[in-house]
Amino acid sequence: MMKRIYVLHFNQNNYDKPIVYNLIKNFDLVVNILRAVILPRKESYLVLELEGDEKLLDKGLSFLKKGGVRAEPIRQSVHRNEDICTSCGACTAICPTGALHIERPSMAVLFTPEKCSACGLCVNVCPPRAMEVNF
Ligand code: SF4
Ligand code: SF4
Repeated sequence: MMKRIYVLHFNQNNYDKPIVYNLIKNFDLVVNILRAVILPRKESYLVLELEGDEKLLDKGLSFLKKGGVRAEPIRQSVHRNEDICTSCGACTAICPTGALHIERPSMAVLFTPEKCSACGLCVNVCPPRAMEVNF
């Protein structure tokens, strides 16, 4: 079983299609909606955690591509600029998923994109603006 987080980008032609229903019904995936911005007739996006058999997960992604839905792994949408991060730790207090966390005993601030829900809360609390959420 695989569990991955993707950002799905919709356009004005497919934003109203039953994508989540099809991922569950046709590919036996567990779908967890982490964030959704649906704008009628404009670009919209969903942040989904998908869990299931690896082959079925890949087939589900092919289904999305055929339908014109761009699915990007979360690490392509959320970055930490390592050059300017000062390891101050401020982001770890607000990150709801533990994607930003302090490793002990080294006290290094680690970023694990696979746990990130793309909520964007870390962007404004980061003094040097090292966190970037791009949709
Ligand atoms: S708040 Fe910004 S500078 Fe501080 S540890 Fe987090 S990413 Fe690095
Ligand atoms: S966007 Fe930032 S605060 Fe939100 S889950 Fe990801 S790393 Fe944590």
